[in-house]
This record gives sequence, structure tokens and C-alpha cells, in this order.
Amino acid sequence: MTRAFVYTARPSTVVFGPGRSAEASTWIDRLGCSRALVLSTPQQAGEAEALAGRLGPLAAGIFAGAAMHTPVEVTDRALAAARAAGADCFVALGGGSTTGLGKALALRTDLPQIVIPTTYAGSEVTDILGQTEGGKKTTLRDAKVLPEVVLYDPDLTLGLPVGMSVTSGLNAMAHAAEGLYAQDRNPVASLMATEALRALKSALPAIVASPRDAEARADALYGAWLCGTVLGNVGMALHHKICHVLGGSFDTPHAETHAIMLPHTIAYNVAAVPDLLAPVGEIFGGLPGAGLWDFAASIGAALALRDLGLTQADLDRAADLATANAYWNPRPIERGGIRSLLQDAWEGRRPAA
Ligand code: NAD
Repeated sequence: MTRAFVYTARPSTVVFGPGRSAEASTWIDRLGCSRALVLSTPQQAGEAEALAGRLGPLAAGIFAGAAMHTPVEVTDRALAAARAAGADCFVALGGGSTTGLGKALALRTDLPQIVIPTTYAGSEVTDILGQTEGGKKTTLRDAKVLPEVVLYDPDLTLGLPVGMSVTSGLNAMAHAAEGLYAQDRNPVASLMATEALRALKSALPAIVASPRDAEARADALYGAWLCGTVLGNVGMALHHKICHVLGGSFDTPHAETHAIMLPHTIAYNVAAVPDLLAPVGEIFGGLPGAGLWDFAASIGAALALRDLGLTQADLDRAADLATANAYWNPRPIERGGIRSLLQDAWEGRRPAA
């Protein structure tokens, strides 16, 4: 095959290592800022308060109202809090929901962001923002939303519950797996994707066995960073489209939906791009979709959409929505095939490919 590609690096500073969230003050200073608004969900308000305490006079306030899918009304309230506090930067501490709030604020103010991730979502290294208004989710890409600095501190993930670690890790792996066959794939993103899948393949079972295994936590966060970077670097396809439909129209939880769908969407696409998905088979053993399913089963992941509250009657509408608008995918999108993979995912059946 002729080698031809475009590779665009996204400018951000990544600081990685145990304890390194303690460097937040240094980075606020280096960004030329002095009044940080600390962001979190209500569930992580205690951690946000502790962080603000450590920042001392560099903390202008705390907004602990981040919520799933970045509702615009929450962003409006946070914006008012930022203005009232005279904030000149944001420090987001948490998962993809908190990162999303920081990005939404940066879009509106162009103020810099420092993100301290505590899950494996990967949003912190993308220029993508999904927001919801009136029950409708829209997604945009804008250089303004890419966080300037990310502090990856594996110590902060030691307490991430095992179930969330598993689903969040599989969610991250979906970015890497789809990145391998992206229309705009490039050698750098593909190298990152395979390295990420290897890291998570070894880290997640170790975390299930021993949740406070510091080395496994560091490997998982390292893999998650690479997965997020792939997501920010190349376009996604069928898998992300179906998960968007299920989350957007049936309100299924984000990470769990990705975790369940991944083996099935990869099995659908393997027929079209066996060469590009070969690394998945090598890493997980066997055929790519089946190998991913075996791996997910071995670490106790949810395997069936019916366990997320979806009814069999929903599957027809989900298949209609997932095939309504044309989008690029390595294998042509065909309604019968999509309906059948949804059925397999609903039942939790091991894919054949
Ligand atoms: P989340 O941020 O919603 O977190 C789920 C819950 O877990 C929250 O209550 C959170 O406070 C809590 N939590 C986070 N870290 C914890 C920890 N270490 N210990 C205990 N509890 C913890 O979930 P998520 O899966 O990280 O993010 C999902 C959101 O991110 C979705 O809205 C999704 O659309 C978005 N996302 C966006 C992108 C992008 O590039 N724009 C990429 C991935 C995900």
C-alpha cells in the first residue's frame, strides 16, 4: 500500500507521574494566571476543596456543579461564578464530565485550562466538546477547547472503583481501536493506539485483582492518555456513532455503552479491514471482536445492552437512527447488519469475528 498521510499535532503540555497534581500551582503561574476557578462534580466536591486549599491564594473559588453531557444551563451558572470570582483560568479535577465543563467555559471565555483527570475518559487531550441543551446533544471541534495543560497523577485514580475502572478503561480502548481504521489514520496515531491497547490489556486485569496497584494504575492512565490523543487526532466511525445514538436517544450511560458495544462494532468492521485490525487480534488473542469480548468478560465488564435498561423494542429505532445519516465507515453501513449487531450486543452474545 502506498504510504500517504496527514499528521497534525495538537499543542498541549502533558505532565505525568505519581504526585504530580501537586504541580498545579506551578502551572497556573507558568500560564501567567493567578485566579483559578476549581471545577468538579458534586460527588468530588471534597477533593476540589482540598485542591483549592493547596492552591491557597491562587484559587479564586470552586464550582462543584459539573454534570454528565455538559448541560448548557450548568455552564451558564459556572460562567457567572467565574465572572463573580474574577477567574483567569480553570482547573478541572475529575472525569470527562468535569473536563467538559472546563472546555465549555474555555470556549466562551478563551481562558486557559489545567485538567487533572481522575478517570480514563481521555477528553482532556481532545479539541472536542459535546454539550446538551433542551435534551439535544451537539458536538463541536474548536482549538479553544483543547486544554493547555494536563496533569496526570495516577495516585488520584487509586480509589476509582473497580467497576468504573473497567468500563472507563474499555471506553478509552474504543478510541484506540477505531483510530486504527480511521479514514484519516496516520502512523503516529496508529502507534499510539497499539501501545495504548497493550497498556490497558495488562493494566485492567491487574487493577481488578488489586485496585490499589500503583504500577497498574499508572499503566492504565498512560494508556488512557494515548487513547484520548488518538481520539483527538483522527476521526471516529461506526462505534462512536452507535454509542452517540444510544446515549443521546435512550440515555444509556456513556462508558458502559462504549464498553458493551466495542467487541460488536469491531467485529462488524473486521471484514472490511482485517489488516488494520490485526493488532487487536494479536494483543487480545483470536479474532479482534471475539478477543475484545473475551477480555471484557474476563475483567467482569457488563456485556449486554439489556442490562442498561434498553428494551428489545428500542433496537429497531436505534438501528434506524444509526443508519439515518451517511457517515464514513470502513465497511458500508447496512441496516440489517447494524440491527443484527445491536441484537448481539443486547443479548451479550460473543461476536463471531
Ligand atoms: P464522569 O466524569 O461523568 O464521572 C462519573 C462519576 O464518577 C462522577 O460522579 C465523578 O465525579 C466520579 N469520579 C470521577 N473520578 C473518580 C474517582 N477517581 N473516584 C471516584 N469517583 C470518581 O465520567 P467519565 O466517563 O469520565 O466521562 C464521561 C463524559 O465525558 C461524557 O459526557 C462523555 O461524553 C465525555 N467525554 C468527552 C470526550 C471528548 O473528547 N469531548 C471524550 C471522552 C468522554
